[in-house]
Parts: sequence; C-alpha cells; structure tokens
Amino acid sequence: MTKSHLLPIFSPLPVCFVKGEGVWLTDTQGNVYLDGFAGIAVNAVGHNHPRLTAALQKQVSELIHVSNYFRIDLQEEVAAKICEKSGMRGCFFCNSGLEANEAAIKLARKYGHLKGFVEPRIIVFDHAFHGRSIATLSATGNPNVRRDFGPYLPDFIRVPTGDVKAIEKLAETTPGICAVMFEPVQGEGGILAIDDETMRAIRELCDRHDWLLILDEVQCGIGRTGKWFAYQHSGILPDVMTLAKALGGGVPIGALVCNEKAYGVFTPGNHGSTFGGNPLAMRAALTTLQIIEDEQLITNAERMGGYLMKGFREIFKDVPGVVDVRGRGLMIGIVLDRPAHPCLAIGLKHRVLFSVTAGSVIRIVPALNIARREADELIRRVAAVVKEFMAAAEH
Ligand SMILES: *Cc1c(COP(=O)(O)O)cnc(C)c1O
Repeated sequence: MTKSHLLPIFSPLPVCFVKGEGVWLTDTQGNVYLDGFAGIAVNAVGHNHPRLTAALQKQVSELIHVSNYFRIDLQEEVAAKICEKSGMRGCFFCNSGLEANEAAIKLARKYGHLKGFVEPRIIVFDHAFHGRSIATLSATGNPNVRRDFGPYLPDFIRVPTGDVKAIEKLAETTPGICAVMFEPVQGEGGILAIDDETMRAIRELCDRHDWLLILDEVQCGIGRTGKWFAYQHSGILPDVMTLAKALGGGVPIGALVCNEKAYGVFTPGNHGSTFGGNPLAMRAALTTLQIIEDEQLITNAERMGGYLMKGFREIFKDVPGVVDVRGRGLMIGIVLDRPAHPCLAIGLKHRVLFSVTAGSVIRIVPALNIARREADELIRRVAAVVKEFMAAAEH
C-alpha cells in the first residue's frame, strides 16, 4: 500500500465493498458478507433497494440542490410524514445527527433565554453520545471521545443514566435548567434502553418544571426498535426529537422535530443550513419512509428483533464470557466480559459485519427488512465469531 493521504482518524478494517444487495455486501475480491451493521443503523431498507435506487436516480436527473432561499415542496411532504408518524408539530432539516442535536441545543438555550435564564442548563446522561462538534461533544458522556478537546460548554449537567432521583434533586438545587436531553436507547453507550416507567417519570418532571424534553432518536428512531420512534413504547411525547441515521436510507440527512411547546421558539434567521433539506435528501427520506410503511418494516423490525434476541440468548446461554444480550427491536447488544475489538477481524473471516461499541458490546443493527433465514444466518455467524474469540482467549 502506498502512503495514505487521509487523516489517520479511522482505523478501517482491510475490506472495501463495491456492491450491496439487501443485507449482503460484496467486496473488491468478490467475497460476500452478511451485513448486521447497516452502516451504523443507516441503511434501513437494505442496500440497493429497487424503489429507493430508482427514486434517487430519477431525482438526480431532475434536481439535486437549490437552497432554502426557495420553497422546497418535498420538505413539506417529508415533514408531514414525520409528524404523522410521530405526533409532533414540525421539522427543520439538516445533514447529520450532530447538526440536529446542535440545533436542539440552540433551541433549548433560546427557550431558556425566553424564560429569563442568563445561563440555561441542560441535563444529560452518563454514557450519552450526541455527536462530535464542540456543543454535542460537551453533551456526550464518553471520556475517550472528549479527551483533548476541551474546554467544553458549561451548559450540561450530567446525571447517571436514567436516574430520575438525581434529576429531581437538580430541580431543587440548580437554577436555569431548561431541558433534559437523552437517547431513549443509548447506542454508542452500549445498547442500553431506558425503561418505559423512567421515560414517563422524566416526562412528568419536565412538565412540572416547564423544561423541554429532548430525545435523541438519531440511532433508535425510524422503526428500529419496533415502533416508528422509541419513545412510543412508553406512550409519551417529547417536546423535541432529533433524527438522522436511517432517515435517508443512506443519503446524509438530519432533522430537528418539534412539538407545540418548541415549535415557535426559532423565528426567521435563528438557524439555517446550506445543504439541509435539499431535494436529493428529501427524496431519499420520503421514499425510505414510504418503503418502511408499504413493506410493514416496523412490524418486521419488532418480529425479527424478538427473533434475534431469543436466538442470541439461546445460543449464548452457556457460552462463558457472554455476560448479557440486551436491546430493543433490531438494536441488539451482546455484552462480553472483555474488550471485544478482536471480534471484528474474526467477523470478516466468517463473512459477517457488526460493530463493537462501549469497548465490550457487539452491536447488531441490521436493515429493517432482514428476512428470517438471514436472521438465522446472522445468529449462526455471530455465534461462531464469539465462540472462536473466546476459545482463543482461553489460551
Ligand atoms: C450517530 C449518533 C449521533 C451523531 O450523528 P452524526 O450523523 O454522526 O453526526 C448523535 N446521536 C446519536 C444517538 C447517534 O447514534
């Protein structure tokens, strides 16, 4: 290999994919891999879905970008669809998860200023991941990704994940709180679902203190957990929700979604984006949402999620080193008792793709349209990887 001209930020596995079909990916050598990763929970309808591919090809041949200086009617269509499915009031479109969270943080600050707070504060969770810009990194809990990039914004107060008592205490002791922000299912934090009762208790606290409830559904939203949005398991509504990853079926996009209380906070000129909401990304989102609806992929995510969870629990029941299998829907974490990174290379050998997060958690987030026989194959291959890894580690 000649000298790389890329910054040494990623450590990519030694494989390059050139073609995808559903949950299968082909590399430059013609090897075919089972994709349990979907590009970090992005490729919701799998690779090269014929409807998405055709819609994008048509859109590219008509119009890619014009700017928000002009009306973009497709934005209305996507926003209406998101609001119909979420019960929320309105959307702002951007290009990524961190951008959506950045917008949510700005909105929460303004909400605080409107209440007369000079220094609005936002409560966030341990192990949270909200992005890698300075503001979203300030909200992120993982010390490894924060190291060397301070100083951070003083806005954020961190509490143990899902600790309602700690939030209650802050309400009594700390002035200027304007919002609570967290992921209903922590992704990068190790596939940790906040239970429904806790979701409702935090909603109630936000109501009582007139705080915004901001839910980061960048990873868990758009059907992955077996509901359109993960908060729907608990029957609550947030004031603000952020979306990205799966929304465009692979095309970069982000969205800030507001309910009534947050809808009117931003006024003209308060925020913006050059690329956000461009016709190509909007076509991708609209088509992805329509495919999920038409092919009943939410139901499939629920069924296949349950099937995979049961299958993994069974196959790992007596495997030493496997501590837990957890998650919600098609967001599954296999928790090992040791750093799991070596599993990635073993996975390539067994032609199966997944990721390792929070050091020791194997993350399985396949496309929402994974079929039963593919789920069976995923269980078989991932089990082979973990067993090989554990057997090697014994010596
Ligand atoms: C991936 C992720 C982000 C950041 O999204 P980017 O598009 O990488 O900026 C934010 N929040 C959560 C929960 C995520 O999983």
